Amino acid sequence: MAGRREYEIAFVGLKPGVHEFNYTIDDKFFADFNFPQQEFSNCHANVKLLLDRQTSFLMLKFEVGGTCDVTCDRCGNPLTVQLWDDFSMLVKMVDNPDELNAQDEDPDVFYISRTESHIDVAGWIYEFINLSVPVHRMCDDKDIDETKCNVEVLKMLRGMNDESKENQNPIWKGLDKFRNI
Ligand SMILES: [Zn+2]
Repeated sequence: MAGRREYEIAFVGLKPGVHEFNYTIDDKFFADFNFPQQEFSNCHANVKLLLDRQTSFLMLKFEVGGTCDVTCDRCGNPLTVQLWDDFSMLVKMVDNPDELNAQDEDPDVFYISRTESHIDVAGWIYEFINLSVPVHRMCDDKDIDETKCNVEVLKMLRGMNDESKENQNPIWKGLDKFRNI
């Protein structure tokens, strides 16, 4: 993400110790990435970054909060979900960062050159917000009788299921005639 200076941290100028950075992220941030369409919209995320500057490494802790809108996996209703997660990243300063980045499969470690003065955190913010979106997106239905799912859609889906079962199993066809007895 070259050229997005607000996400570049000039760590060379930082004193040893922990420094705090705060980012407010909305849909525009994601639109700037050339990745497939996001699975969420109306993102209002705040990312607190705690950067511990040491001589040969940086310890980054990203705390993701806020909300975004997704659709229910079951009925397609729009849902607002909470973003809430922490991620750590160890950035080591070495002589051969490209080689080590290619070798090391630990996703929580990243290598940069000792001569580097800046790090760009936009890619990590992108990744960590995506990872904070709940995998299972369901209308709140602790009690099945009070599901907030779109009941009409569920009925329709159930109907489609029944139909496909009937088509697959000819035995149901034979039973049809008993249904209204
Ligand atoms: Zn639902």
